[in-house]
Amino acid sequence: MRYVSTRDNALNMTAAQAIATGLSRDGGLFTPDTFPAVSMGEIELLCKADYRERAVKIMKLFLEEFTEEEIRGFAAAAYSDNYDTPDSAPLRKLDDTTAFLELWHGPTCAFKDMALQMLPHLLSASLKKSGENREVCILVATSGDTGKAALEGFKDVDGTSILVFYPEDGVSDVQKLQMTTQEGANVGVCAVKGNFDDAQSGVKAIFSDEQLREELNERGYFLSSANSINWGRLLPQVVYYFSAYCDMVNNGLVKLGDKVNFCVPTGNFGNILAGYYAMKMGLPVNRLVCASNANNVLTDFIKTGTYDKNRQFHTTVSPSMDILISSNLERLLFDLSGMDDAQIRSWMAMLSSEGKYTVPDEVKAKLDAVFSGGFCDDDTTRKVIGELYNEQNYLIDTHTAVAYKVLCDYRAENGDNTPAVVVSTASPYKFCDAVLEAIGETADVPGLELVDKLSAVTGTAVPKPLETLRSKTRRFTESVEKTAMKEVVTSFLN
Ligand SMILES: *Cc1c(COP(=O)(O)O)cnc(C)c1O
Repeated sequence: MRYVSTRDNALNMTAAQAIATGLSRDGGLFTPDTFPAVSMGEIELLCKADYRERAVKIMKLFLEEFTEEEIRGFAAAAYSDNYDTPDSAPLRKLDDTTAFLELWHGPTCAFKDMALQMLPHLLSASLKKSGENREVCILVATSGDTGKAALEGFKDVDGTSILVFYPEDGVSDVQKLQMTTQEGANVGVCAVKGNFDDAQSGVKAIFSDEQLREELNERGYFLSSANSINWGRLLPQVVYYFSAYCDMVNNGLVKLGDKVNFCVPTGNFGNILAGYYAMKMGLPVNRLVCASNANNVLTDFIKTGTYDKNRQFHTTVSPSMDILISSNLERLLFDLSGMDDAQIRSWMAMLSSEGKYTVPDEVKAKLDAVFSGGFCDDDTTRKVIGELYNEQNYLIDTHTAVAYKVLCDYRAENGDNTPAVVVSTASPYKFCDAVLEAIGETADVPGLELVDKLSAVTGTAVPKPLETLRSKTRRFTESVEKTAMKEVVTSFLN
């Protein structure tokens, strides 16, 4: 198996090289040139395994240079008591045809942990295998969730360090507390005076600073990103689709071999793409339903075959899906177009020059064969959270609510009652204010008090990672102008 760039399929690498490199120089994304088949017999065996072992069996199919023992070591580090449930990705049955796949039991209470608890181990080993002696410094500009998940993943991982910039006025109190109390000897956190765009453009400027690159190189460092669309972030996500299917079988919701639908709250298209890859490998999937909030560029793309980002950007109660350019869609298009790199180059060039492109009928037909799409606005999102809580006593976050609503709409429109998994991407405690309002309360207290209020009102327990924030000391207090970010990097690496 080789990994090719979506923009140059003659450029190919091993898994370790692709993970060590991150983004291809041509701007393309590394993608496997073949997808290993998983038989029904193998799925039956996975049904009897725990999450860690499921991860080993699926991931090793894509990591030919790694031994099973190595991968078992990564999985043991990534999915163990850093989760607050024995199973890292438990399935919660709602009724006879619906279950929620809860991907938020990890250290930061959001699904990014599923990949970011694994990526650092994969990356560290990939760097060694590809002969890289320098230490990697991960630079992140974050609007909240990714920064914390990356910090937790990379803390104290050999051969790596991580520096996160967040906008001083652009993250919630809880998110700020999560980041500034971060533990670990190789981590740094710094506020930037400004908004998310200021932090992000500051980081981009650092990445393209040739002089700094030289200087760091001489000192034995190189810079990389955890925001990037690294294959090492996507691969761990393929696992939980298999795991969810096995648990659907184990719970009697389907018989082995029967198909299921997945409905996925989507932003950058990474999560749902992992589901598509699982299906390509032989997982019995009927349809993938792509759920968006008011930023419904993907809903329109799935309906019309035209991707058009020229539209108003909406700030919503499901902020992790507030995205108008879904980077990982490029990997899907690469697959649907038969790995046609020239075609991908031309669509991506049109996306950057005109903000839109249209795929031809053959590609649209392949898209239709697998994907459906829908969206849900903020008012409906709150309404759905309230209803599910009142009627079924099940509390979900805003992103998950978008997916649940889109699944209900999809079923009503298409009469497709295939048993379905709603991919649940965050703890309701991560989005306390919207969730409180959704269940008829007011969000009138600051920071961690909101967390307490949600717990008191619903009688549910505060997730441990949020609970323990109270007793942590604030380690990082630095706040700089955007123009001073480069100095922060150089002194961090001293
Ligand atoms: C990142 C995120 C998403 C979107 O996932 P993509 O892989 O970007 O599509 C959905 N929900 C939550 C809570 C997230 O953090």
